[in-house]
Amino acid sequence: MPKIIAIANQKGGVGKTTTAINLAACIAAAGRRVLLIDLDPQGNATSGLSIDKNSLELTLYDALVNNVPLQEIILPTQLKGLDIVPTNKELVGAEIELVDIPGREFRLRQAITPFLSSYDFIYIDCPPSLSLLTVNGLAAAKGVIIPLQCEYFSLEGLSELLRTIRLVRDSLNASLEIAGILLTMYQHTNLSKQVVEDVRRHLGDKVYKTVIPRNVTLAEAPSFGQAIISYDINSVGAKAYLSLAREVIAHG
Ligand code: ATP
Ligand code: MG
Repeated sequence: MPKIIAIANQKGGVGKTTTAINLAACIAAAGRRVLLIDLDPQGNATSGLSIDKNSLELTLYDALVNNVPLQEIILPTQLKGLDIVPTNKELVGAEIELVDIPGREFRLRQAITPFLSSYDFIYIDCPPSLSLLTVNGLAAAKGVIIPLQCEYFSLEGLSELLRTIRLVRDSLNASLEIAGILLTMYQHTNLSKQVVEDVRRHLGDKVYKTVIPRNVTLAEAPSFGQAIISYDINSVGAKAYLSLAREVIAHG
């Protein structure tokens, strides 16, 4: 069974997609078979891996709404071992179209069921909301990675997210766990240090040892359609995501 991990935080711009792309890429580089599912209508994971989101014939939308098998939608990426289920803004419609469908929370879980023996890791890049799409991600996953930005309001909204995870666990997916809290965009400032201390004090061993620094190379790489390890393997950003990948492979 693959590790199926949703990367979620309803707060926008905290590093979900950066983590989804780069963690998936680093794990694929370690020889594991990885599938990245772009569950955000913004399609940033799709374009960040060089796929032209506006010229796609089939996207995740077709799997969720029209029952198109994922094998017709999955695309290889430039990285060996890393495939993607691409998405574009069409997915916005799924929120509305799925509302009246019984089992609407399980559409993604159903779509990936035939692929459970094809991959070692499946990552799901969730949108910045606690919407039906995110609930589909949480219902399909075994674990959640929660990126938290090392900024003053980083913990704001976390209790709401944890409540949503609990609700999903109680009603839809009893095996859902928090895989880990990931501190992102760390800077050598007193504020960043304070946030790291506070988060470690409150959330303890759930927090990954690896902290992702703020690194401009990480922000540049997607505009070249590349994961950080292809764009600049020597950058501090690449080293950080390689370290996270080692931690994930070692501890699950
Ligand atoms: P959204 O909620 O909109 O989906 P997100 O949580 O997926 O956002 P990202 O898109 O990964 O967040 O990151 C937000 C912005 O910050 C992007 O421009 C990204 O390139 C940049 N960024 C992410 N992580 C870092 C980092 N460690 N250092 C510098 N820039 C970063
Ligand atoms: Mg994103």
